[in-house]
Amino acid sequence: MSFWLDIVVATPAHSSVAGPLTYESESALSPGQLVRVPLGRREVLGVVWAVRADAGTLAQDKAKTVRGVLEGIAELSASWRALIGFAAGYYQRSLGEVALAALPPQLRELDTLQLARRLKRKSGDDGQTGPAPERPMLSQEQEAALQGFAGADKPALLFGATGSGKTEVYLRAAEEVLQADAQAQVLVMVPEINLTPQLQQRLQDRFAHLGAGRVVALHSGLSPAQRLKSWLAAHSGQARVVLGTRMAVLASLPGLRLIVVDEEHDPSYKQQEGARYSARDLAIYRARLESQRLAAQAGAPGAAGERSCRVLLGSATPSMESWQACLSGRYLRLDMRRRIGAAAGDSGPEVKLVDMGQQPRGAVLAPPLLQAMAERVGRGEQSLIFLNRRGYAPVLACHDCGWKSQCPHCSAHRVFHKLDRSLRCHHCGYADPVPRGCPDCGNVDLAPVGRGTEKLEEHVQLLLSDLRRPDGSPLKVGRIDADSTRGKGELQAQLDQVHEGQVDVLVGTQMITKGHDFRNITLVAAVNPDGSLFSSDFRAPERLFALLMQAAGRAGRKAEQGSRSQMWVQTFHPRHPLFAALQRGDYPGFADTELQERQAAGLPPFGHIALLRADARSQELAQDFLRAAAQAALEAGLPGGERVSLYPAVPLTLQRVADVERAQMLLESTSRPALQQFMAAWQPVLTELRRQSAFKPLIRWALDVDPLSI
Ligand code: ADP
Ligand code: ZN
Ligand code: ZN
Repeated sequence: MSFWLDIVVATPAHSSVAGPLTYESESALSPGQLVRVPLGRREVLGVVWAVRADAGTLAQDKAKTVRGVLEGIAELSASWRALIGFAAGYYQRSLGEVALAALPPQLRELDTLQLARRLKRKSGDDGQTGPAPERPMLSQEQEAALQGFAGADKPALLFGATGSGKTEVYLRAAEEVLQADAQAQVLVMVPEINLTPQLQQRLQDRFAHLGAGRVVALHSGLSPAQRLKSWLAAHSGQARVVLGTRMAVLASLPGLRLIVVDEEHDPSYKQQEGARYSARDLAIYRARLESQRLAAQAGAPGAAGERSCRVLLGSATPSMESWQACLSGRYLRLDMRRRIGAAAGDSGPEVKLVDMGQQPRGAVLAPPLLQAMAERVGRGEQSLIFLNRRGYAPVLACHDCGWKSQCPHCSAHRVFHKLDRSLRCHHCGYADPVPRGCPDCGNVDLAPVGRGTEKLEEHVQLLLSDLRRPDGSPLKVGRIDADSTRGKGELQAQLDQVHEGQVDVLVGTQMITKGHDFRNITLVAAVNPDGSLFSSDFRAPERLFALLMQAAGRAGRKAEQGSRSQMWVQTFHPRHPLFAALQRGDYPGFADTELQERQAAGLPPFGHIALLRADARSQELAQDFLRAAAQAALEAGLPGGERVSLYPAVPLTLQRVADVERAQMLLESTSRPALQQFMAAWQPVLTELRRQSAFKPLIRWALDVDPLSI
């Protein structure tokens, strides 16, 4: 006797076999089981999706047979499968692609024997539980936030200033859930784990009493073996707390009762390739799914109690999407405006705007800012200066003939790195040594144009070289950016130096504005943030505001100091309303203005957008494909089409990367369902179009739903 199964495997997004495939099996299997099946000439990992009554349209003699079952791994739950189904549908990718990408890669590689060994390996859990840990007394605001959260029946947004103690609220909310139910699991998501090493430790300390191995991390920085181990711990329910990056939102968590999304506004929650999902949005959806399932169970005879899965988003500068959801009542807003330990009336760092139009021409750092930094050094306090450009200079140029350090493979300049005298493309990685002379005219006097963090570091060192610390030793300037922290452990080592007070002035990219809790920094400066004020990217102001607020939050965490800490912003547009809102520390005011503009322009969160993107060797071909796609949609009269506007095909701002020409077309609708319906119907049309001989040379196309930038 044989059984028929629908099984999902890692099929590419746009192949004609995007759905589950039908296989035969000698034993009865259930949905959610992991299996190995033949695909072409390979044997691949698959997930049983459904049990069929028969072979369907598949000729029985063509049927392929399940080769093996991954014994010892419990079925993936119905709600996990529903989540994957939703994500694949919403983000217009194949089920198999999303499902298999959500599983640890090593599951695909290990054979049955190796896997059995892994499963047997002791997890280190000795079943011992310890005494409950010490916890700080909650502040009034924390208390109120937790009460509000406990009483709400919808997603909550913790709108909390930097240093207001959001983490403690997460910990308490988690504690409550874990105590109430011995099977409960909590997922805590962060944008980037490297930037928050303290958080993992705090979770571990707080939940150590639950037994060893109850807190695990899940992110792409883990080794394949570690990742499998964490995933299995989450899937088996052994792990009670999972700390992860965006990928963790798709982990199997059978007891999930709470999802925390810290820094929910952070762009890293949006995956930028493959299935371009938003982990924050999926968290909301996932909690709803889980809650529905729990409610259905509770309705069943014998079940007791009201159980659900909750979501807690947190940010000092929420995304416009989440803020609008609070305004419209879909989410509950919980406010924590005060820093822990701040005196009454302390409204955070003082924001000083420097009108660069009034400063000496060409000044990199305005004299009053330098003066303020010098004072800090004299007092033994630290300053942090950030500039979002690594390297020495963004361009190297010949002033005789006009040659510039263009990347031969991208529509971008290569950046001059002085430390190793290289020209490096930050988009494709192409690098070689700085030429002795101009490649075009031989002029040996090539000049760096513009400024990156390396040059800023050099500059600060030079300008402040006469200064002495209180103990008479010379001043030390440090730099933290992607270049200075390439090696393993380097970031931590450099952060430690800052914490130990070995660095007086820290120069870096926005990397240093995130997460770290620098106690002794009392001055933060943004050297050149103007680029984002007039960017064509509609989210640029939102991001700039978040970045500056976050940076300001780095200053003056030192509670005992008498003088007020400062945030300096150098700008040629000191009267820009964004800066005025920053000066007042007024995120709600900024959001009001921003949301009005978005609404007027029909942009998210009011309008709904997606991008059809095409990559090809020539820009013409990429755009031709997009135009043909629009034409085909029109001719086919796709459902939802009357409510979707298609804009003309345009090159991306960064048009060519690694010799690939990139183009895109914007889709916009006031109705999310109409846009969804339209894209779902468009998919097969696009797949078909791609097969036409004219489009054979196309490299790829993809839909990006709810893109971050357009
Ligand atoms: P946020 O994430 O909101 O920026 P944190 O959670 O990092 O703030 O808290 C800021 C600091 O205050 C941390 O050092 C934290 O240990 C401390 N803290 C938080 N809550 C309390 C409390 N109730 N009592 C004392 N210290 C607290
Ligand atoms: Zn030249
Ligand atoms: Zn390049």
